[in-house]
Amino acid sequence: MSENDRVKGTFSFISLGCPKNLVDSERMLGLLAQDGYSLVPDSELADLVIVNTCGFIDSARQESLGVIREMIDRKKAGLIKGIVVAGCLAERERDRLLEEVPEVDQIIGVFGREEIARVAERILGEIHEQRSLFRPAAIRAMDDTARLRITPRHLAYLKVSEGCDRLCTFCAIPYMRGKHVTKPIEEVVKEAKELAADGVRELSLVAQDMTYYGLDLYGRTRLADLLNALEEVEGIDWIRVLYNYPQHFTTDLVMAIRESSKVVPYLDMPLQHISDRVLKMMNRRHSRAETVEIIDRLRSEIPGLVLRTTFIVGFPGETEAEFEELREFVKSTRFERLGVFPYSYESDTPSARLPGHLDQDVKLARRDQIMAEQQPIAFAFNQSLVGRELDVLIDRADPNQKGRWIGRTYADAPDIDGVVSLRGKGLRPGDMVKAEITESQGYDLAAKAIGTPVRGGQAARTGKGRSLNSSILPIIS
Ligand code: SF4
Repeated sequence: MSENDRVKGTFSFISLGCPKNLVDSERMLGLLAQDGYSLVPDSELADLVIVNTCGFIDSARQESLGVIREMIDRKKAGLIKGIVVAGCLAERERDRLLEEVPEVDQIIGVFGREEIARVAERILGEIHEQRSLFRPAAIRAMDDTARLRITPRHLAYLKVSEGCDRLCTFCAIPYMRGKHVTKPIEEVVKEAKELAADGVRELSLVAQDMTYYGLDLYGRTRLADLLNALEEVEGIDWIRVLYNYPQHFTTDLVMAIRESSKVVPYLDMPLQHISDRVLKMMNRRHSRAETVEIIDRLRSEIPGLVLRTTFIVGFPGETEAEFEELREFVKSTRFERLGVFPYSYESDTPSARLPGHLDQDVKLARRDQIMAEQQPIAFAFNQSLVGRELDVLIDRADPNQKGRWIGRTYADAPDIDGVVSLRGKGLRPGDMVKAEITESQGYDLAAKAIGTPVRGGQAARTGKGRSLNSSILPIIS
């Protein structure tokens, strides 16, 4: 064994939160593996445990703190040597963490992730001279190549920018992730090629504010150019564009989505509310009229479009009439996919200082009412797919039914929307197969394969970005 091959130590990794955090986790995993650390599936077998946290809203923070405390118990029991806490919670609450969890060996901010291997070396070398490592927000996009991926081999997230220039009053993300920084088109394409060479067929583009892409770097939005450039990447079959702010849908962008053979007609566009007064209180930069106009335009210009949105109910001061306006809007607009969240009080955001905070039970009741309004709409959309022949991307074998597979059509984003339970022979994860939708099962579908599966992962592997079998990792999200 050469010096470079020697294993420096073992680590286990827990990744919490959204796909953008997952990309950071995968980058840290890649850096540790490159530096000679070996990943083990169970934290009890690891020298070091890294927890990449979420700090978006209170419930996510509580989940992150719960996992940290669990790891501290393991450390106290002598099962692990060190704990690193990284990510958004670390960035948002560094002082509190330093005080409340002194057993954590190192706290790393979002922009300290590149130094994870040096941190591991220090902890395992028992040099604990400094417990926190924070770097200023990046002024150029961070390199996300050479990741060790924990998603199934045929799926990957690709971060096209970091941070956000908007200051929605309920959102703490700009304080954790900094201002908007676009990753240049050629770098995104390079990462996409690396992922394709590793067997990725479905690429989900992620950002905090997707349609802003390019404005800071090129002086104009360039998401359309990016999509056109990604169209040329061999091996990728589906490109999914997530986190679209309802602005900057230029003619070029709509055309790029419509004309593309790879960008699926599925748009995730969080709207947050529809009442003009509430939108203004949220510091959203779109009105009801503009929102209606963009939805009409997208639906008329992109055939087969599936629109996903999210709303916040119970924003401070939201009146019964404003809530009813939102409910009516949900009923009449008939989004194919929809999520709704009760407003979360976050003391460091501007909305915390607004008057008229509502009781939690009012917020939850409003959430339930919107979901009740939406459910038959989502079910009816699924019912409308019965009898149609659609491509299904196979994600995994159905653990509950031998001979059946779990996959998705273009209308369902991984880990967000529903699935298709499918009968078919000779299939394996990563296959794309034509299927007839035979039944609607609420938010899910059943289907039978009718075509010959088209196998993925044909491209040569570069050996740089790599994927793991995600089942070996203790991932919580
Ligand atoms: S656009 Fe999204 S990420 Fe940016 S401040 Fe608003 S909610 Fe937060």
